[in-house]
Amino acid sequence: MNPSSFSVESGQALTSLLKFENRFASLPASFYTRLQPTPLPAPYSVGVSPAAAALIGLDATTLATPAMVEAFTGNELLPGSDPLAAVYSGHQFGVWAGQLGDGRAILLGGVLHHVPHQNQIWELQLKGAGRTPYSRGADGRAVLRSSIREFLCSEAMHGLGIPTTRALCVTGSDQPVIREDIETASVVTRMAPSFVRFGSFEHWFYNSQPEELRTLADYVIREFYPELLTETNPYQALLHEVTLRTARLMAQWQTVGFCHGVMNTDNMSILGLTLDYGPFGFMEAFNANHICNHTDQQGRYAYAMQPRIALWNLYALGQTLVALIGSVEGTQAALESFQPEFDAVLAARWHAKLGLRESLPNDQALIDRLFEIMQANRPDFTLLFRKLGELKIGDPSSDESIRDLFLDRPAFDAWASDYRARLQQEQSMDAARGAAMHAVNPKYVLRNYLAEVAIRKAKQKDFSEVEKLRAILSKPFDEQPENESYAALPPDWASGLEVSCSS
Ligand code: AMP
Ligand code: MG
Repeated sequence: MNPSSFSVESGQALTSLLKFENRFASLPASFYTRLQPTPLPAPYSVGVSPAAAALIGLDATTLATPAMVEAFTGNELLPGSDPLAAVYSGHQFGVWAGQLGDGRAILLGGVLHHVPHQNQIWELQLKGAGRTPYSRGADGRAVLRSSIREFLCSEAMHGLGIPTTRALCVTGSDQPVIREDIETASVVTRMAPSFVRFGSFEHWFYNSQPEELRTLADYVIREFYPELLTETNPYQALLHEVTLRTARLMAQWQTVGFCHGVMNTDNMSILGLTLDYGPFGFMEAFNANHICNHTDQQGRYAYAMQPRIALWNLYALGQTLVALIGSVEGTQAALESFQPEFDAVLAARWHAKLGLRESLPNDQALIDRLFEIMQANRPDFTLLFRKLGELKIGDPSSDESIRDLFLDRPAFDAWASDYRARLQQEQSMDAARGAAMHAVNPKYVLRNYLAEVAIRKAKQKDFSEVEKLRAILSKPFDEQPENESYAALPPDWASGLEVSCSS
């Protein structure tokens, strides 16, 4: 279907549904290339997020209508949208990669949604909507497998309370797409206030275009950090704020065992959101050196490396802002807020995960010892913390199912005995502590095998499991007795699953 041939009836309906305000398109032409998505034949709806839809005043039923499926595949243009692909650059695996850009993502524009007391603009982006001038020889497509993973994980992260880009819907088409195997094309519609990346700043810095760099920084401050406009040095304040948000994000990732997999500077959000879901994974058997991305042979982005890589990336961002900030010292000072913020949020989150209300001098040693026995015994990260919420101070028999996660049970018993003593120190009550712990230790995370089951069914055109997982993961802290099996350890067949950059 031709993007310009948008039907009158659905066009009118959609005009009244979505009001576009295209902020990014108001930047100078050098920031992007205007272009149309490339249509896909006979698209169908694969999944819809009612929660994301509500953010722009839509509902799930509307999103699954043929007109919307066409629109969110890029086959028909939503009235008021001004599609474009943005340019950015970046460091990939620590090496300057030069110009990248939206190689397969097309920004439709920003949708204004009125909510009480604020007007929120959500940018809508079609990922997998065809080639752009930044595709660098690749096909501009995304496969069904990776789109379902991005859709489910975006919404799962939101369910966990972790800042992330959102996913409105996924559509599919039978058009073949060649990866290691022949797969099929898919488009995931992402939503965020902005998709500007650290690499967007690096782009102008390394191309020696200070005017564009300033324009970008001013745009980001004006639109997304307006409270910083009154600071003496808004550019320094911006770096400081991005540093704090990124530090908090890392503390959140680490404490749910989320591994991003490709923390290149072009995948780092200037808003501190989790961005670009590729070979990500939730850690199952604990291993601090866990590498979720099969392509990352050196383990640059291993679980334990994530916080320091984030800081490395912030230095790359800081480098671009030195001239605007006015001094290396001022830049350095903004970046130095990372470690104390990360440490503080991380400690608060481990405390909460262990049900500790107070912070006492020996707590860090207790936490460190837990990680030592976890490293030696590889218990399932999610199950361990969830089950710790069921421990009863006066009843060691309540530990049975926790002990089962450890090969070296005496090592766990020794730790548990110190943990009990520590809980008694603050007169911890089992019921209240258990409830508080269950509110921060998820029962359900997007395990690779769960995504894989949903993907296999979706390849057979059965999308029920995508919806089922989405629904379960939207309430990850709730007991859902009917979905108990989704909280279980991965089955044996899952040990062979690998995720790579192929998407
Ligand atoms: P990623 O590692 O997925 O963040 O991608 C790095 C860069 O490659 C970005 O500029 C993407 O837009 C681009 N890219 C990845 N896959 C494709 C594809 N299939 N077609 C075009 N560009 C792509
Ligand atoms: Mg990317």
